Amino acid sequence: MTTTAVIGAGLGGLSAAIVLARTGQDVTVFEKNERAGGKLRPFQLGTHAFDYGPNTITMPDIFHRVLAFAGKEPENLLPFKQLPEHTRNYFPGGSTLEVSSDAGETKRAIARLSEADANRYDDYLREVKRLYTLATENFLQRTFESPLDYLSPGLALALRKVRPATTMHAFHRRFFKHPDVQKAFDRYATYIGSSPYDAPATFALIAHLELSDGVYYTPGGNVKIADAFYETAKELGVNFSFNDPVHHVSTRNGRAQTVHAASGSLDVDNVVLNGDLLSQYPLLFPAFSEKSRTVPNHPEPSISAFVIMVGLNTRLPQLKHHQVYFSADYPEEFEQLKHGAFPDDPTVYISNSSYSDRGQSPDGDNLFILINAPALPGGAMTEEEKQSYKNLVYDKLEEFGLFLRPHIVEEQVLGPSYLEETFGAYKGSIYGLASNRRQDAFLRPFNRSQDLKNVYFAGGSTHPGGGSPMVTTSGILAASALLKDNGILLDFWGET
Ligand SMILES: Cc1cc2nc3c(=O)[nH]c(=O)nc-3n(C[C@H](O)[C@H](O)[C@H](O)COP(=O)(O)OP(=O)(O)OC[C@H]3O[C@@H](n4cnc5c(N)ncnc54)[C@H](O)[C@@H]3O)c2cc1C
Repeated sequence: MTTTAVIGAGLGGLSAAIVLARTGQDVTVFEKNERAGGKLRPFQLGTHAFDYGPNTITMPDIFHRVLAFAGKEPENLLPFKQLPEHTRNYFPGGSTLEVSSDAGETKRAIARLSEADANRYDDYLREVKRLYTLATENFLQRTFESPLDYLSPGLALALRKVRPATTMHAFHRRFFKHPDVQKAFDRYATYIGSSPYDAPATFALIAHLELSDGVYYTPGGNVKIADAFYETAKELGVNFSFNDPVHHVSTRNGRAQTVHAASGSLDVDNVVLNGDLLSQYPLLFPAFSEKSRTVPNHPEPSISAFVIMVGLNTRLPQLKHHQVYFSADYPEEFEQLKHGAFPDDPTVYISNSSYSDRGQSPDGDNLFILINAPALPGGAMTEEEKQSYKNLVYDKLEEFGLFLRPHIVEEQVLGPSYLEETFGAYKGSIYGLASNRRQDAFLRPFNRSQDLKNVYFAGGSTHPGGGSPMVTTSGILAASALLKDNGILLDFWGET
């Protein structure tokens, strides 16, 4: 049995801890905050409950697999609910596009904007499914441990087939002519913290998840996913140390040896770092960070988030569970983000989970409003700047006929610095590294350190990337790499 310290109790750290504990390892999780779940975090404002972070859940099977691996009955613990007509898109010209995981419904909605585009929809679904299948088989569920892994001929061939040289926007233009249809699907680039005008078309695979596999919600709030993981890990014997930031890991002969946390020190055989690699690796392993082969030099951060959580005293009839209010000039919005500016005409996403789950907010809508923001441009926003940007967002929503101000009873505004301060996110980015470089669709930092023999990485800043199912996968991959180095071969995807 080995002793492993997991640094961070985000979904990546929790899934790694579960897999390791289930295979008999001794695991301690150090978490700087007071609870497990990381960026998936509950907020309660009066009688209105919110999920900060993941509001759109895809790939529920990944969460279930982790729980099933631990010997639990996942459907009982996490009875995900599919949202059939999941997202209503609003465009400045007055048109709307309701997107559903029922292909016929979506096709009819597209036809109201463009018959020709509707006729291309089946081809589009086939192509994004192909991208998804190729990516899953070759990249997403596979551990990348060293640059040599990329040299295998099979992988090189697969890499070429996932359209890494085309941008997501160019890819969508091949299928759809109507700018509003393009925008609705281009938005998937933001799910990996990137711009559709830079991100590789590979990531259009996200469309397969939303448009075919479906969008899900966890009754009681998506935070139940983190709670189920935490309870399961505890039952398996994982020790949790909350309010306990790790400030240093001492090393010897190229191996991590002792974890130094606020509460004291622990000698370990292995370390799994779940905190943001880009900010925490240099902090915890300063001797290795300058010449590191693990963390890229001058990394480009993914986009960040400006969030307003609003409790209303009523239910507004035009609000569904998920809706998006688009900017007039989508390319300009991403240009501004790229240059570190808050867009002056932002696209606004609103999740109103009480549409599907009244219990979350019995006295009125609970709106989680999310705007793409630049990763900390020049320090934190002042309170005045936050209020002024919030008002710009409300003004914009009023142009779409959505009047929130008269009904607001609770409100909390969180800018990009919240992500940096609370979770140690690199420059307040949501996913660590941006995925903007077309040549490296899947070349994120590996799940194993290139500098230290017994250090592994799980979470959004490492392979296979951000988003709740992907970080959960990265925890599984990091645990598998650790076990392999300790002589235990785990076929997680085959076994469950
Ligand atoms: C506003 C927003 C909206 C999002 N929307 C969605 C969505 O709709 N769907 C979706 O799937 N995903 C969404 N995501 C992304 C998703 O939340 C993240 O990708 C995922 O939760 C990150 O998990 P993680 O394992 O990388 O770790 P994190 O959640 O980043 O957790 C890492 C943990 O490590 C801790 N830590 C860091 N450093 C230390 C240290 N030195 N010592 C001790 N502890 C430390 C932190 O406190 C934190 O708890 C969203 C994220 C945000 C911010």
